Amino acid sequence: MSSFDYTSLWERPPVIEEIILKQKENSLIQIDILRLDLIHPMLSGNKIFKLSLFLSDCLQSNHRTLLTFGGALSNHLSATAYACRTLGIKCIGLVRGEILNSPTLKYCQKMGMELHGMERSEFRKISEQTNNDLLISKYGPHTLVPLGGFGKKGAKGAMDIMNLVPENTYSHICTPVGSGTTLAGLLLKSRKETIVAFPAIKNMYDIPKRMLEMGVRSLDKLSVVSNYHFGGFAKRNDELIKFINQFYRDYQIPLDMVYTSKMLFGVIDMIQKGEFPRSSKILCIHTGGLQGNQSLPAGTLCF
Ligand SMILES: *Cc1c(COP(=O)(O)O)cnc(C)c1O
Repeated sequence: MSSFDYTSLWERPPVIEEIILKQKENSLIQIDILRLDLIHPMLSGNKIFKLSLFLSDCLQSNHRTLLTFGGALSNHLSATAYACRTLGIKCIGLVRGEILNSPTLKYCQKMGMELHGMERSEFRKISEQTNNDLLISKYGPHTLVPLGGFGKKGAKGAMDIMNLVPENTYSHICTPVGSGTTLAGLLLKSRKETIVAFPAIKNMYDIPKRMLEMGVRSLDKLSVVSNYHFGGFAKRNDELIKFINQFYRDYQIPLDMVYTSKMLFGVIDMIQKGEFPRSSKILCIHTGGLQGNQSLPAGTLCF
């Protein structure tokens, strides 16, 4: 089906690691982490899965140009820039806000991505286009990857993440949520596991609607935990930074400040509060995103 093997872009294959919680009283609960962050520092995590079918389409096109969207810290843009560079695809990134000098965007430019910053309201309008005629007239023919890879094609790519999860092993699979595309992929392929979603965005009430739009038929296996966004998307406080540093010291696993740290903070907090059944076997998906930590002041994190 897909005409290229996206795993050829991987630096390392992902692995599953168990972490032994420091809190002894919860020793009946097992937490494993699927380390998608190991795949590649820039391509990392869930992004290569969501991109795979778009890249495949683009490789088969005559224009061999891909266009997508993102913010100044966007893991999606850095992953796209790296993948396109490696595959010889021309790529265009439309950026929310006009400042183009974040470490992420500098990297994208270095990888040859053509960046166009735009003011937020224009970005919102343009990134919600479902028909790309307007974009084609402005930027030429291309394969369009919607914001966050959202949609059936992105979700179909994300389904492959479930191939890395052994069957009949976990009671719960936890994932952070941005656009919900990864979540949809997991739900589309879940077996008996409950999929626990941790939105990184405040007041994200439309998750069920998004799932249905991406072809998820039943929401029985979905559980949404909405209270670990730390004030909103990409917001952080000292408690979160302290948690990231402590987690690294305890388990030698680096977390990003936007998604995976908030999910793991939530999972551990919920375990301490007894909100997971005893003897749960939990798999947390480390969706990567570590490149975004570069925008923190030097010395904030211990890794
Ligand atoms: C993009 C991203 C997400 C969100 O994925 P969606 O499929 O948009 O929900 C989660 N974690 C990390 C690290 C990401 O970069």
